[in-house]
Amino acid sequence: MLIGVPKEIKNHEYRVGLTPAAVKEFVTHGHNVVVQKDAGTAIGFTDDQYVAAGATISDKAESIFDNAEMIVKVKEPQPNECKMLSKGQTLYTYLHLAPDPTQTELLVASGATCIAYETVTDARNGLPLLAPMSEVAGRMSIQAGAHYLEKAHGGSGTLLGGVPGVAPGKVLIVGGGVVGTNAAKMAIGLGADVTILDRSLPRLRELDDIFRGQLKTVYSTVDAIEHYSSKADLVIGAVLIPGAAAPKLLTAEHIRNMKEGSVVVDVAIDQGGCFETARATTHQDPVYTVDGVVHYCVANMPGGVARTSTMALNNATLPFGLALANKGPKQAMLDDVHLLNGLNVHEGKVTYKAVVDALGSQL
Ligand code: NAD
Repeated sequence: MLIGVPKEIKNHEYRVGLTPAAVKEFVTHGHNVVVQKDAGTAIGFTDDQYVAAGATISDKAESIFDNAEMIVKVKEPQPNECKMLSKGQTLYTYLHLAPDPTQTELLVASGATCIAYETVTDARNGLPLLAPMSEVAGRMSIQAGAHYLEKAHGGSGTLLGGVPGVAPGKVLIVGGGVVGTNAAKMAIGLGADVTILDRSLPRLRELDDIFRGQLKTVYSTVDAIEHYSSKADLVIGAVLIPGAAAPKLLTAEHIRNMKEGSVVVDVAIDQGGCFETARATTHQDPVYTVDGVVHYCVANMPGGVARTSTMALNNATLPFGLALANKGPKQAMLDDVHLLNGLNVHEGKVTYKAVVDALGSQL
């Protein structure tokens, strides 16, 4: 199969669909890969490295879209990319179609087979192609929080780890899933005093087993949120209700009751945010302050560490990508229901129920 990797064109998107190491895997399995010139240059994957891995380099996105049987990307295709797709071609990337009728219409019109990373599933009801980005965002959330706690960055001037003789900073993590667990690992690593809230008792039991006394687990109630947020130096919002907007667990009043110069990082902002005062920000302008509390609400946190994110994403997408190339998309999806769950658009039809439910009347 001929696999094409165009350079991402979304504003400030530096990730790339395949790393040189992933290209080598496809080539080793007998496939051909064409990579757009400078697709990975910004994150240290040079054209020479892609050539050494067995790829050819193409100057133009158009020739990649015209010729490749499967296009591997990171972000949803932009309108001009959608228009270059055609029937018989497979698109393998993040799509997030439910809130995006324009993209959905363009993909339907293209006739292409479009597989969305975010709806591929695994045997444990997880979303294996979303999890790596949650791992990245969870770990980054503590890094960002520690940075903005510094006085020069608007914070209270608190060092999360404390020092001998001075108590560590208090970190409250709301939601103990992938983001929350990775945030907890970083916060514990820094020596912070960590409390994690979840409304799933089985999950709290698992966290208790994993961290063995290094953090406190607390059942998530309004009372617990009120109490722990008023004492916290840093609050991480990490809840997810699958398929729904994030619940506003920290109200404007909770924020008002927090200490001056404390920091909140709302990782769930991509689902609308779990703090009432949160609004999406960007890597260029990541923070704003409400009632003395610094808010960091970057909607695409993994983009800030695009090199690590690209490698983490490739580790997860590669096995499915190889199956699509080795067996052909149809057989690969017939053989694996979890990959089939990724199919969102096929030959002019929307094939994913949640997208139909969200957009039905608009299509
Ligand atoms: P997850 O499903 O692994 O974990 C969510 C957790 O929230 C679960 O353990 C669930 O029990 C818990 N929860 C639900 N309701 C709760 C409540 N009322 N109180 C406390 N806990 C509650 O999800 P995840 O992968 O950790 O993702 C968390 C959020 O981070 C999602 O909204 C995801 O979209 C977002 N995210 C954002 C970025 C970014 O760049 N901003 C990157 C990755 C993920």
